[in-house]
Amino acid sequence: MGDLELATLDGGMSVISADRLDALQAGFRGRLLTAHDAGYDDARAIWNGMMDRRPGLIAQCRGTADVVAAVNFARDNGVLVAVRGGGHNVAGHASCDGGLVIDLSPMHAVLVDPERQLVRAQGGAQLGDLDTETQVYGLAVPAGVVSTTGVGGLTLGGGTGWQTRKRGLSIDNLRSVEIVTADGRVRVASEDEHPDLFWAVRGGGGNFGVVTTFEFQAYEVGPIVWVCAPFYPLADSPAVLRAFRDFMADAPPEFGAALLFWSVPALSPWYPQEHHGKACVIPFLVYNGDLGEGVRLTAPLRNLGTPYVDHSRGMPWTALQTMFDPYVPAGDQQYYWKNLFLTSAGDEVLDDLADIAATIPSTYTYLVMQPIGGALNKVAADATAWGNRDVNYMFEFDSMWRDPAEADTNIEWTRRQWEALQKHSTGGLYVNFPGFGEEGESLVRRAVGDKNYEQLAAVKAVYDPTNMFRLNQNIQPRA
Ligand SMILES: Cc1cc2nc3c(=O)[nH]c(=O)nc-3n(C[C@H](O)[C@H](O)[C@H](O)COP(=O)(O)OP(=O)(O)OC[C@H]3O[C@@H](n4cnc5c(N)ncnc54)[C@H](O)[C@@H]3O)c2cc1C
Repeated sequence: MGDLELATLDGGMSVISADRLDALQAGFRGRLLTAHDAGYDDARAIWNGMMDRRPGLIAQCRGTADVVAAVNFARDNGVLVAVRGGGHNVAGHASCDGGLVIDLSPMHAVLVDPERQLVRAQGGAQLGDLDTETQVYGLAVPAGVVSTTGVGGLTLGGGTGWQTRKRGLSIDNLRSVEIVTADGRVRVASEDEHPDLFWAVRGGGGNFGVVTTFEFQAYEVGPIVWVCAPFYPLADSPAVLRAFRDFMADAPPEFGAALLFWSVPALSPWYPQEHHGKACVIPFLVYNGDLGEGVRLTAPLRNLGTPYVDHSRGMPWTALQTMFDPYVPAGDQQYYWKNLFLTSAGDEVLDDLADIAATIPSTYTYLVMQPIGGALNKVAADATAWGNRDVNYMFEFDSMWRDPAEADTNIEWTRRQWEALQKHSTGGLYVNFPGFGEEGESLVRRAVGDKNYEQLAAVKAVYDPTNMFRLNQNIQPRA
């Protein structure tokens, strides 16, 4: 490798000599890619098609030793660094222009200890890796709902999904992490070792280092779960929303659920052609228990009117976990996702949500009201960095479109509706659906709470005093 110009932490550019690059290359087991290498364009692509970043160097790591080498290289040369897990962050934090990307995607192994129901996942694993390996033993880790999402970013921000009501967030089931901090040291953080660091990585995002291994508690799930999914016309919203809310108010915790506002996808024969593109509302429930019981309990929600189509059925957990994948492809679709926590699911709130749904500008977009209260409410607000422990309903704007010319319309619509909904917001939000993170520090404060924010800033000062890990929902170090 010859000399290479790389972006630096102070916003400039610096020429890194061939000697220094050769020193990094020596002993590096993964691949180092620059713009001149075959595979560079594939390696730099991230999920959100809006993001077209061109890193100066991509370090595709094969193990913890590679991560240590890459972190030391970045620190010693003052290079701007991005860390890539699954590459799903809507704001595109997995990449950068001109700097170094520490790409963990080759590190996606998952090892299961079925006796203790403990699971170790490498830092670049995706949810599909996690589900596939754990289901061999009839287990699953509480995590998200799309198989290509990275375990890394999802967990460091919290982690919600179909098991949240029963098991809490992914971080509530995290037992330890192996992490490479800015000084290049490899640390294990858990309740017993570096508890300050362990507290911070549970909700504080990628601010504290590169997590090379996550260790989780897993639980028996499936292998077949009951899924209730009738697609009703949007005009049925008043009755559907109220029935969903009333059902969830005392539904057993074995139910995971989401109320979706969507448009019937143009996918024949799965969706009847005459309904393609029609606005719809879907009470989507997942029951991890006896199949017959799931059918019986959800029957009322399937008889609220005449659905366009009813996709309710029993299905393997792994099929459920890939069910939404086709609607959120990487690369050729554009995304702007934001969220907030709702004060309640009262009638006025529900009616306002339905009114918003009637104005969605893109048939790709879905809005999601997710009941997440339950196990997560039993954890104290200061027990982990994830501060919003009193919430019950999360509301997401998952705005998506294909034509780049439609970006402004969709982003403006999302921001306007998100602002309008603030009157029904607890003031809190979930950091993993940040839009482009435009609100900066206030966004992170709303996600973790002011008290936790101060604590996070103090932990950051210990483990990353120069803010090397800054391409994230950033927390400035403050002693
Ligand atoms: C299609 C889709 C579905 C989603 N579904 C859910 C869901 O069901 N539940 C939910 O909670 N969230 C969900 N999310 C949000 C998701 O949690 C965030 O987008 C998250 O940032 C994705 O993590 P990632 O590793 O894929 O992303 P990346 O863009 O790779 O990383 C996100 C951030 O985390 C940092 N990071 C990633 N891995 C590591 C690591 N190992 N060590 C240190 N830092 C790291 C990155 O530097 C970056 O700042 C979804 C997102 C998408 C796009």
